[in-house]
Amino acid sequence: MEYTRTSVNALNDNPVHILEEGYSKGVVFPLANALFSSAMVSQSGTMKFKISVYNSIINNAMTFALEKDFFAFVLSKKSSLSEKSLRYWERLLSAQNPPDFSELSAWSERDKLQEIMWGKREMKQVLAIRTDILMHSMDGHFTVSVAETDKAYSLLLIRSKKMQDTLLGGMNKDTKDLLASVKSRLMQYGVALLLLLLGLYYILHSYGQSAMERYALEETLKEIVSDMDETRKRELDDVIKKGDILSIYRFLSDTSQEAREAREQAIEAEKAKDLFLANMSHEIRTPLNGILGFTQLLESTDLNDEQRGFTDIIKGSSDNLLTIVNSILDLSKIRADKMDLEAISFRPSEVFEDAIEPHEVSASKKKVGYSAFIDPRLSMLIGDPTRLRQILTNLIGNALKFTDTGGSIQVMVEQIDQDVNTVTVRFSVKDSGVGITPEQKAKIFDAFSQADSSTTREFGGTGLGLAITSDLVKHMGGKLDVDSELGVGSEFFFTLIFEKSGEVEEPRDEFSDMRIAYYRPKTVHERACDTWVMRYLDAVTTKAGQIDTLSASINEQFDFLFVDYSTADVRHNIDYILSLDVHVILLGYMSYRDEIDALLNDHSSILYRPLSYSKILRTLGNIVHRSKDEPKPTIKRELPSRLSGLKILVAEDNEINQNLIRAVLENLELDITLAENGQVALDLRKEQTYDLILMDIQMPVMSGIEATEAILEYEKSEGLSHIPIVALTANALQGDREKYLKIGMDDYVSKPIKIEQIHHVIHKHCRVKLEEIQEGIASEEHCQLETPIAPHASASTESEAAKEEAIAPSQIVERH
Ligand code: ADP
Repeated sequence: MEYTRTSVNALNDNPVHILEEGYSKGVVFPLANALFSSAMVSQSGTMKFKISVYNSIINNAMTFALEKDFFAFVLSKKSSLSEKSLRYWERLLSAQNPPDFSELSAWSERDKLQEIMWGKREMKQVLAIRTDILMHSMDGHFTVSVAETDKAYSLLLIRSKKMQDTLLGGMNKDTKDLLASVKSRLMQYGVALLLLLLGLYYILHSYGQSAMERYALEETLKEIVSDMDETRKRELDDVIKKGDILSIYRFLSDTSQEAREAREQAIEAEKAKDLFLANMSHEIRTPLNGILGFTQLLESTDLNDEQRGFTDIIKGSSDNLLTIVNSILDLSKIRADKMDLEAISFRPSEVFEDAIEPHEVSASKKKVGYSAFIDPRLSMLIGDPTRLRQILTNLIGNALKFTDTGGSIQVMVEQIDQDVNTVTVRFSVKDSGVGITPEQKAKIFDAFSQADSSTTREFGGTGLGLAITSDLVKHMGGKLDVDSELGVGSEFFFTLIFEKSGEVEEPRDEFSDMRIAYYRPKTVHERACDTWVMRYLDAVTTKAGQIDTLSASINEQFDFLFVDYSTADVRHNIDYILSLDVHVILLGYMSYRDEIDALLNDHSSILYRPLSYSKILRTLGNIVHRSKDEPKPTIKRELPSRLSGLKILVAEDNEINQNLIRAVLENLELDITLAENGQVALDLRKEQTYDLILMDIQMPVMSGIEATEAILEYEKSEGLSHIPIVALTANALQGDREKYLKIGMDDYVSKPIKIEQIHHVIHKHCRVKLEEIQEGIASEEHCQLETPIAPHASASTESEAAKEEAIAPSQIVERH
């Protein structure tokens, strides 16, 4: 012991070696043997058995404790196990032999001992620790901790202490005295010190390997075996026959390694599948492009009624197919981790209104009460506006789909918290529709899953919307959830934390001095929408107030009076209300449109729900301007619908698309040149000049991106003026637009090509040239030109188109 202790102090030996050679072989076992040899002297037959059982318990306990210390060393070192360490461990395991109680058959405490023996649960823990250590013996990346090991072993040791006490209780006093004297003698030799040094706190109270371990091992193996193939089963039989515990652990370790690899492969396969889906749906878009484009062209030819019916069907089906393909593309991109969310500065009121307002028409058609609240306190935020719009659009679309006539839908976007850098926003879409059961709730967020199969028959849909929406919300750091009751309604909600953009908005204090009253009759209980109106009005002016009675002298207190036309009280007294000497603003649903329009006079206006802060500001602004008799904003100069004279270069490799674009552009009387790849486009650009270049992205020889970069480089080096380049691509994914704009393209048009889209970009980028053309035509022909830009703008350019054309929300037709 002295020798060993010196090595420890000098730190000049390998710890495993110290454990094995120094303490185990050199000290612990010889001392234990000495203890029990002397205890055996002059004992009777029965007593000898008891002592040998006791000896066996102690012996096992010591190896057990040594094993625990070995683990403590191995786990703290966190490196692979050397061959030597493994061999030491193997010897420890093989030294553990279960105590055999059969020799004590005549003894009354035998059953008790068996009862005290540790159970399967404790052994399983030790088994798991051993398996983990063996499994990671090559790399040292153990997942168990020293604390777990300590805990697992302590449980066994407590039981073995009880066994020892039971055993000792049955021994006669002489034996006890003898044991005690031997113990104290050993103490004099420094056993106590030895125990302290080793940290083998439990050594005299512990218990080691037993038949139970083998039992637990075999049970575990049986569980594993059921999932194995025949070869593995045979291997296992061999291992069990060998009876070598370490081999069994090795086998277990190999098996779990295989299982882990199989799991990793499965995850990879899942990703590969999603990627395949993404690519496939992308490919499907190209032929669809042809179908949709040519159908559009076909429609503009002379068709009889029957033929027109056919083209309508082709168009409807292709549109449907495109929606499905786009959804699959979205979902598979998200699942394959190919979805990049934008992080750009956006104005929440604008983005959320854009998502909310287009549904106004469908809601009014269905006679569903549709109201919304977008917190006017929301400042400029950082996030992905397109995807946020998509999330809201989907939830509102579902609410509309599953709410019957007479029901209601409330959309709420509310700031619930903020600090210096971030704002927490809660989104909620609540309806009084069909609702869902808890069982249905469990599956509606899965792809292709609907609450019940009759849904498809009744409402259509693919069951992809919520899967995409919840994935998107998850990507943004939130969780889409639903509260719902069958037959009562549903509320879909989630909370997101946004960074503030730091961009300062101009304060909207134009009306901050206006005196505005909101009339809520006493008969009406306060509803959420009343609170919302007041919150909006409070944001508009410091002089907003709620009133519950109307008097002829109202104009002394207020300049504007807001009233809710959907309350019976207001409808019944509308003549009186409109006769008051104050400007009245009626809040109503679109479904009352005709009724309200007939009522309005010079000093009353209508504001259709869903209300929004900017709508209120707009309406107030209109009234103020009107009252000041300001001239109406001048109508934008109309541009020619025919674009003859413009030279367009089109880079596109696909023949169908070439034909389609040629047909579309030639219909517009454009002068077009086709290039079958980027290289040809670059060469053509060098030879002559164009008014616009439409550039496909994926092309052989030279891609659209490379060609664009080369053209820009060429223009720069030659000091030439820039020809706008518009990406023309089926890569209609989030982030693509930004990617193309970043490399220097001027705009983006997604395939399938829509004539309006092409029209729109040409107008946008060739405005000057078109004005020149218009002037030429006007002076020559003096003719009136029709409005060129169709109200249906493209997906990618719709917001600009909407702004430029200033389409009133009520005119926006819902798009899918
Ligand atoms: P779908 O294209 O079928 O609408 P979604 O993924 O958007 O696919 O919705 C999945 C299912 O969840 C729907 O078929 C419907 O059963 C249920 N569901 C979604 N929204 C609502 C709602 N607001 N009220 C009731 N059920 C809904």
